[in-house]
Amino acid sequence: MIDSKYKTPLTAGRVLPKCTYCGRPAVYRRRTSGEYFCSACFTRAFIRRIRKTIAEYSMLTPTSSMLLFFSPDMPVTSLAMIDSIIKLEKEYPTRIYISLPTDYKDFDTVENVLREKYCSLKEQLYLVVGDYAGFFSSRSSLNDRYVLSRLLSLSIAEHVSVDSILLPYSLESLAVLVLANILSAKIDDVAYIEPVVRLDDVAIGYPLYDTPWDDIVFYSYIRGIYELGLVGGIYSNCSKIEKRAYGIYRDLALISKELAYNILKNPSVFRETLGLEEVSAECGGRIGKSMLNECSSLRRMIGNIRVEILSPCQQAHP
Ligand SMILES: [Zn+2]
Repeated sequence: MIDSKYKTPLTAGRVLPKCTYCGRPAVYRRRTSGEYFCSACFTRAFIRRIRKTIAEYSMLTPTSSMLLFFSPDMPVTSLAMIDSIIKLEKEYPTRIYISLPTDYKDFDTVENVLREKYCSLKEQLYLVVGDYAGFFSSRSSLNDRYVLSRLLSLSIAEHVSVDSILLPYSLESLAVLVLANILSAKIDDVAYIEPVVRLDDVAIGYPLYDTPWDDIVFYSYIRGIYELGLVGGIYSNCSKIEKRAYGIYRDLALISKELAYNILKNPSVFRETLGLEEVSAECGGRIGKSMLNECSSLRRMIGNIRVEILSPCQQAHP
């Protein structure tokens, strides 16, 4: 039994709580709601929440062609997003592209997993591989990598025609970004962290915008993603202010269950107050003016990324 607050197994001898939905023995307690879940009901609830977020913010249409971006600094969240979106989409006539960085340390492991798990989707699914992990490891700021993921995914999307790009940021990682921007007084960047932004014909969305980190960890555990031990960790390489924001966030989250929701849902107030509405193509979406120069230099760094498109059952180049 995993309790998302205390992260310890319940002691033997106590009566095991039952799943709130089906009455079978529970294996997980969702801290924000107090609900108990068995694995099957949890998986359904996890997917249901993502489906709701996608629908609420119109991230996809039933016939969308989409790019699921694998972020090398968030491998577990990336794979959890990819796995759940594929579960959600296999009923629809959608085309799914998954980007994967060839210079990522655990590339072979991830590529094998994708091939083993989703090969049966045949022409519905493709891998788009190219060298891009190095860009992430060269930036020691969460905010830079956040912008980088948008610019890179847009650049990759130029090689495949897609209507939507989905990025693997969780509720907490976005809330920490907002907090860090408040701490560093980048007020207009605070205003621009939104669940979805439309740029030309492409929607860039965060399907895990409403999903807490504990749920992602437990989903990864059930789906065999966590045990892969993938190299990553977004908070191990970030600025002083971002580390501080992460610490403050963790402390406050112990007191308030709804903290991340409250932090994330409020930036629209900043946007309305400041009257900031423009979407910048240079920055890959709605980004604060203070980031414009930073965006140009990130864009120059990426250049024209070269990618290769593979069917999931096809071996990557040697
Ligand atoms: Zn159940």
